[in-house]
Amino acid sequence: STMPPLLSAIANAGRHGVLVKSAVVMERLGRTDTVAFDKTGTLTEGTPRVTDLRPLPGSGLDEEELLALAAAAEHPSEHALARAVVGAARERSLPLAPATGFTSTPGQGVSATVGGRTVRAGSPSRLLPEGADAARAAVRELEDAGRTAVVVLCDGEPAGVLGIADRLRSDAPAAVAALTRLTGRTPVLLTGDNERAARHLAAEVGITDVRAGLLPQDKVTAVREWEREGRKVLVIGDGVNDAPALAAAHTGIAMGGAGSDLALETADGVAVRDELATLPAVVGLSRTARRLVV
Ligand code: ADP
Ligand code: MG
Repeated sequence: STMPPLLSAIANAGRHGVLVKSAVVMERLGRTDTVAFDKTGTLTEGTPRVTDLRPLPGSGLDEEELLALAAAAEHPSEHALARAVVGAARERSLPLAPATGFTSTPGQGVSATVGGRTVRAGSPSRLLPEGADAARAAVRELEDAGRTAVVVLCDGEPAGVLGIADRLRSDAPAAVAALTRLTGRTPVLLTGDNERAARHLAAEVGITDVRAGLLPQDKVTAVREWEREGRKVLVIGDGVNDAPALAAAHTGIAMGGAGSDLALETADGVAVRDELATLPAVVGLSRTARRLVV
């Protein structure tokens, strides 16, 4: 056809299920030499399920009460972990108490007032107070089993721990292998989740470079450092917490199905069918188009 090479490449990328937002982005993708993946919702399916309920002895809660309390606080959140908690409560037909004063902190968790008590749910490393030995022991046990642990606090006191497990996307290992071949470097995992859950998953997918426990701003710092070294970074993410890194990177692609609105708007491209295997193909299309342009 007579279509300019970069526009043909955009059309081809579209056929692969990747919506590239501009010719500038299409041109840039081929220069990628470093790929950084988010974990939850990107390398994983993002439909995690609650597998363990561990109320702490001193909390006076049983398993279902712990779950109902966490679900009440998580109800307004769009985070994948929040949906897992609310889904588990629904499955057991647990009534959810109304929550007021909801706030959510990306990379940390949520807070709300439920039945006159302040309930917080989220990251053990960010929310657990000093001491809290029983909670820490439960967290460690769950994380060693590859779970993501969510702690629940009631008026500042640890009340229990939930174990949550997510499945790897089936095409993630192939995508990581192909991107490694294309760029000559293994991709990096950037995640807000804990080190042990992150390493567990990285090993399954063939990633050795893991940066865990990151806040959204830490993901940006990592990307900026590489860019300062002259690297061209492609960030692939899905969450509100990934939006700053998607914006900071040379190029950013969001997962279309699992992705939050903010990630979709901020990214330079969208994997509309949530397929990772198409990403190496699109980098390849860009390289071919650039050869035809210059
Ligand atoms: P990732 O970078 O892997 O996508 P996030 O940055 O979204 O992960 O979350 C990092 C961590 O913050 C989670 O592993 C969890 O511990 C905690 N967290 C964030 N939001 C929530 C929430 N709504 N409910 C429970 N935990 C949360
Ligand atoms: Mg994510």
